[in-house]
Amino acid sequence: MTRSHATNYPMLPEAFAWRQGELHCEQHSLTELASQFQTPCYIYSARALRSAYQAFATACESLGANVDILYAVKANPNLSILSELAALGAGFDIVSTGEMKRVLAAGGEARKMVFSGVGKTDAELREALEAGVGCINLESLSEMLRLNQIAATLNSRARVSLRVNPDIDAKTHPYISTGLKSNKFGLPIDQALQGYRQAKDLSHLQIIGVDCHIGSQITELSPFLDAADRVLTFVEVLEAQGIQIDHIDLGGGLGICYHDETPPSPEALMQALVGKVQAWASARGRPVPKLIFEFGRAIVGAAGVLLSRVVALKPQSSPEATSFAIIDAAMNDLMRPSLYEAWHEILPVRQDATESARSWDVVGPVCESGDWLGRQRQLSLREGDLVILASAGAYGSSMASNYNSRPRPAEVMIEPDAPPRLIRRRETYEDLVSAERL
Ligand SMILES: *Cc1c(COP(=O)(O)O)cnc(C)c1O
Repeated sequence: MTRSHATNYPMLPEAFAWRQGELHCEQHSLTELASQFQTPCYIYSARALRSAYQAFATACESLGANVDILYAVKANPNLSILSELAALGAGFDIVSTGEMKRVLAAGGEARKMVFSGVGKTDAELREALEAGVGCINLESLSEMLRLNQIAATLNSRARVSLRVNPDIDAKTHPYISTGLKSNKFGLPIDQALQGYRQAKDLSHLQIIGVDCHIGSQITELSPFLDAADRVLTFVEVLEAQGIQIDHIDLGGGLGICYHDETPPSPEALMQALVGKVQAWASARGRPVPKLIFEFGRAIVGAAGVLLSRVVALKPQSSPEATSFAIIDAAMNDLMRPSLYEAWHEILPVRQDATESARSWDVVGPVCESGDWLGRQRQLSLREGDLVILASAGAYGSSMASNYNSRPRPAEVMIEPDAPPRLIRRRETYEDLVSAERL
């Protein structure tokens, strides 16, 4: 197997490699997958998914720490992905009861879930309590009072933590930064003590933890370390007031390589954060609290690619004019470029370039100028060629819509030495209108 091309692309996991000039996922050529499942189509490597999860779990084990690694379902809620992770022992971070039901359907346990989200409704809080969700992460005083009342009507005590907002700049895109005072999430850390005091007096709440999550696609250690420092200081304040907690949930947010980013490895992040908490506890002669993390992107992001075909080329001869490559995937299939100006590497499936490379704006067919997937990409393309958008496993299919009445793509899971598995069929016209009434 020739791996020379793959090593040029640090964002591609090992399962993806070029053989005889053609991109494969494990033993399957993407050309064959395209003819079997049509395009656009998400292709996931089960091996890459498992090894990303296990990198976190193994690092924590070797540190001898009591850590739960949760998977943030919103990154990719496909039932097969959830079931793969549940089988590895993962817990789950959910942000709606829709996600809760998916996890339960995929074999995950309610006890191993934490329920996050800034606007949980009464109905959702009730359902979560009835299902026995492990911890409800409260994000406002209003939610706390509502949950206490709902738990009272169910004659139960809700296990809760409060999400504190540590006012940390995660140095990421403003739309995926969540830990700044100006963000809507959690309670400002300077008001959180008041919240905990109040929670302690509510008879149907049981305080079990403290929680924060500062943002997504974080590519440096320092924001994580700063947030952990603030949370640990806050835990000292709580304990001085006689409020004991069993766990500290430091959220998710570890970034991946899309282009040329070099985020800390899961091992490095776990070592730094778990090490910090262990040192903090030992300096105070107290037991190390249980730690919880909630990673989405870093678990599933690299494992998936979006496979698409070039529909039409609109080359321009003058160098100032933009040349467009129109592909059959669009902003409705992969929203991140339109939403955050995110970069996804675009790579041709066949590397037998006969055309010389030129600069293309790679766009979809949707009627929006914001419908682009990559700008000014140096590519050698012909109509009908296949391309992939790399690192599309997280916030790809989960954000897909039917805009322009486009059916959402098929999703395929690839396992070494096994036939490809369709884990979501392509939608049909009937699916598009199935909830509508004439
Ligand atoms: C989205 C989210 C996560 C996961 O973020 P990633 O960047 O995908 O790791 C974790 N916790 C909460 C509360 C979230 O909203």
